[in-house]
Amino acid sequence: MGLEEKLPSGFLLSTVENLAGYMRKASIWPATFGLACCAIEMMAVGTPDYDIARFGMERFSATPRQADLMIVAGRVSQKMAPVVRQVYDQMPNPKWVISMGVCASSGGMFNNYAIVQGVDHIIPVDIYLPGCPPRPQMLLNAIIELHHQIETSPLGVNREKAARAAEEAALSA
Ligand code: SF4
Repeated sequence: MGLEEKLPSGFLLSTVENLAGYMRKASIWPATFGLACCAIEMMAVGTPDYDIARFGMERFSATPRQADLMIVAGRVSQKMAPVVRQVYDQMPNPKWVISMGVCASSGGMFNNYAIVQGVDHIIPVDIYLPGCPPRPQMLLNAIIELHHQIETSPLGVNREKAARAAEEAALSA
């Protein structure tokens, strides 16, 4: 007889990994900063209309050292690129990045020397969110998708991502 058959019905079996993923996704603290017009839509998710507090995320962290989500909201100028990278480096692992809007993801309409043509040139991105600007509902949808990724990713630092970040840092140095 298998273990499941011996246990009383209603007894919940899980793994530490699943449990940690479940807890992690419910305690994401985004870093407080915005780069351009997309940030206005990002701020809207904190209002009662969209209510990001439903996900336990209303506490936008003023210090990157207490943040584990970076929402890159707006175009990234060449001048801001090292700052974005520094903020990312200051965030503890595990950490995640949402690229919000077409400008952050690919430079968008700013196809010129002043704008980084995609924030993934300087930091690893977990979710790309299209739109100009994406509506707050779209950001909430991206957050729900990120929760799914977090819940199903293995415990510990994402080594692949950390190695990619180190490689990118070396290239941009
Ligand atoms: Fe502004 Fe549109 Fe670019 Fe967002 S995607 S930063 S709204 S121009």
